[in-house]
Amino acid sequence: MREIVIVGGGYAGFYTAWGLGKRLRAGEARVTVVDPRPYMTYQPFLPEVTAGSVEARHAAVSLRRHLRSTRLIAGSVIEIRNADRTATVRPANGDDYELRYDILVVTAGAVTRTFPIPGLAQQAIGLKHVEEAVAIRDRLMTALDQAASLPPGAERRRLLTVTFVGGGFSGVEGFGELLSLATAMLKSYPELSIDDLSFHLVEARGRILPEVNDKPGAWVVRSLERRGAHIHLNTQLVSVEDGHVVLSNGEEFDSALIVWTAGNASNPVVHNHTDLLVDERGLLVVRPDLRAGTDSEPVPDVWAAGDDAAVPDLASSVPEARTVPNAQHAVRQGRRLAKNIAASLHGGRIRNYRHSSLGVVATLGLGRGIFQYKSIVIKGLPAWLMHRGYHVLAVPSWERKIRVLTVWLTAAVFGRDLVSLASVQHPRDAFVTSANPERSGESRASDHAAP
Ligand SMILES: Cc1cc2nc3c(=O)[nH]c(=O)nc-3n(C[C@H](O)[C@H](O)[C@H](O)COP(=O)(O)OP(=O)(O)OC[C@H]3O[C@@H](n4cnc5c(N)ncnc54)[C@H](O)[C@@H]3O)c2cc1C
Repeated sequence: MREIVIVGGGYAGFYTAWGLGKRLRAGEARVTVVDPRPYMTYQPFLPEVTAGSVEARHAAVSLRRHLRSTRLIAGSVIEIRNADRTATVRPANGDDYELRYDILVVTAGAVTRTFPIPGLAQQAIGLKHVEEAVAIRDRLMTALDQAASLPPGAERRRLLTVTFVGGGFSGVEGFGELLSLATAMLKSYPELSIDDLSFHLVEARGRILPEVNDKPGAWVVRSLERRGAHIHLNTQLVSVEDGHVVLSNGEEFDSALIVWTAGNASNPVVHNHTDLLVDERGLLVVRPDLRAGTDSEPVPDVWAAGDDAAVPDLASSVPEARTVPNAQHAVRQGRRLAKNIAASLHGGRIRNYRHSSLGVVATLGLGRGIFQYKSIVIKGLPAWLMHRGYHVLAVPSWERKIRVLTVWLTAAVFGRDLVSLASVQHPRDAFVTSANPERSGESRASDHAAP
């Protein structure tokens, strides 16, 4: 039995394991996925999770349910020593241990890139994981509840001020969806009006959504501004201590919700803790067939794909181009990896990865979107329908597609099913208060240790 170890069960890792499950012969190899999370996160749904349009659980694709023939290890790989063919695993519980492999697949993705901005680590939240999307939604809804019971003034303004930093794909989608949610929620709050909301999007460059051309990018800015948003271009976040936002353009304001979506950094295990060849950005160097190494120095039995790998883009006319880090590539690279690994075991033909972009489609909130393919640009409702259509087809498994579609159809009839469940983060409060009214606050600290 050959041991195939896959580091990371996200997009690329999930599709590799799924494909191998279908292609490997019985008893030929054991496939192991190591990931601290028991699910693959369907990240394109996260903006809709923040807006309550997609159920949080539906953006999480269970590895155990869908990868039945794969061994799963709940833990992180903290070091790869390919010279010894071992990966060091840090399990959720217990001591670190060595995992031996015959074939290694590195699909650990990227991590959120941050900077040492005063107050950022204490005040901001990212938008890369399901729990972050849920917390953003709950915080906004709790803020609306609290603001509605306050008279106009500084505290009410702070609660209703939302700041997104980073105008890339995930930032603009998250911003547009949350703005759409807040605006829609006002119908339930007669105490509040649209003028009470203050939504800021801060972008260091002179434009947002670099994935689309200048003209559609400018249209997105105008369309968000028409909805009351403040878009700060050529502006950086200077500090955010105690929730007080200071921008490089001189503006300052208090903001209760600060979402950091200013890009990705290379995964530390790939960048710093491996003897495999890594480029200047901290990405694994791979060949066009997704094998690690270069044409002159190939690394046998090591493969990589997705956001942690510098994959040559054979569809681009630009010399030395690498595929952009997105789901469109990660899925297809995962599928190609499974085929190539199976071919390497069965003596078949190993093929290069090649994919021409299908275009870009982004949601800007309920009923609003933008799509671009080469010179074709579609805006508004048709683009939003394309966004939903594409993603419901792209999310893995029929079971997940039907669940998501059912929520959308139900919402079309009854509206979004919304209530802040921020209290789930302190599940023992009510019980502790009943058991011992004087010590009600103590449950919060002990929640972390509770089973
Ligand atoms: C909000 C948002 C919206 C997006 N929307 C789109 C979109 O509409 N279209 C599009 O094409 N792309 C979109 N993307 C980008 C896309 O989701 C990513 O490019 C894609 O997920 C990359 O796949 P991956 O397999 O490389 O990494 P991931 O999917 O991030 O998976 C990496 C996995 O590795 C695990 N891992 C990390 N470190 C370790 C370790 N040390 N040991 C073991 N496991 C580890 C992680 O837990 C994770 O499960 C979006 C991203 C975000 C954040």
